Amino acid sequence: MVPKKILVTGAGGFIGSHLVNRLVEEGHYVRGVDIKKSEFLPCFAQESLLLDLRRPENAMKAAEGMDEVYALAADMGGMGFISNHHSEILYGNTMIDFHTIEAARAQGVGKILYASSACIYPNYKQTETEVTPLKEDDAYPADPQDAYGWEKLTTEKLLHHYRLDYGLETSCVRFHNIYGPEGTWDGGREKAPAALSRKIANAALSGDHRIEIWGDGEQTRSFCYIDDCLEGLVRLMASKHHEPINLGNARLISINALAELIADIAGVSIDVKHIEGPEGVRGRNSDNSLLREVLGWEPRIKLEEGLAKTYAWIHTQVQMRTAKALLQPLPPRQSKSAEPARI
Ligand code: NAD
Repeated sequence: MVPKKILVTGAGGFIGSHLVNRLVEEGHYVRGVDIKKSEFLPCFAQESLLLDLRRPENAMKAAEGMDEVYALAADMGGMGFISNHHSEILYGNTMIDFHTIEAARAQGVGKILYASSACIYPNYKQTETEVTPLKEDDAYPADPQDAYGWEKLTTEKLLHHYRLDYGLETSCVRFHNIYGPEGTWDGGREKAPAALSRKIANAALSGDHRIEIWGDGEQTRSFCYIDDCLEGLVRLMASKHHEPINLGNARLISINALAELIADIAGVSIDVKHIEGPEGVRGRNSDNSLLREVLGWEPRIKLEEGLAKTYAWIHTQVQMRTAKALLQPLPPRQSKSAEPARI
């Protein structure tokens, strides 16, 4: 293996922080760039820069001297976030994406790999729970559900044209729900596996087994473990494939069944209450035919195995947060004389 100089944008995020450490382990020189520090995983990048990539001069600085770029930076989250921040996502992420691609061209980067999403697929192909797995060609005629999907689709087009017009080497991956430990698990940006793990860990620790699920819970998705995601990314960077390609696990499961699976892992029974909330499309799954053809490989880590690792990590986070809250000093008691006078 020839060591390379590699830029990972979004290095402080879930996939980025795991990817940085894998590339460093492989012997590469890695520059991690993000607007914030990695929250959960210690980052072993040889260089870590805090930069806002919505600014073109920062993107230029990030890409300078790099052989390869993994463009992962984005302002994103689960359904709760992406269904409520359309302008912020479309404007901010398009700025990040466009400046990063232009910087890769201007700085003579050897290859850029862009992280797109299964959210680019059209609504009309995702109306049933028993959905037909989505093939790359299903993207058009375009009708993504949210502005997030339009941002990704627009950037896919820019990438395509930069390759044709300037000869920039490109790859583009459409992730289908990547999950695992050391990712956002609370605060409104977490995705279903992390949110359910947190709720079930709370149930296990508190003894209150009621948990809430948005919608009727029959909506279906597929979930891909982080180690499979990293393997796919590295293989794709090494391949000659240019056009967008799915990267997901092809096992379809409903959100209700996902909750039951995590509850089994946790060894608790749950009492599910279905409430109103953003559900996203009715069903979505990844067709991995092209992935198998191009990479001779597809994600293989079993959901039970990945969820067990994810749940264990989130359970510890919930425990630590509870312990911290208990250690907080109590507010000083007000003496009677300090009470405001009543009129
Ligand atoms: P994440 O939110 O954990 O990481 C994204 C990182 O980008 C964050 O650390 C964030 O601080 C950084 N960022 C945001 N704005 C920035 C800015 N202006 N300048 C520099 N950095 C900025 O998300 P993730 O799950 O690691 O996803 C990585 C990429 O994969 C994203 O592009 C996302 O859209 C895409 N994707 C992820 C999934 C998934 O299931 N995780 C699915 C589809 C697509």
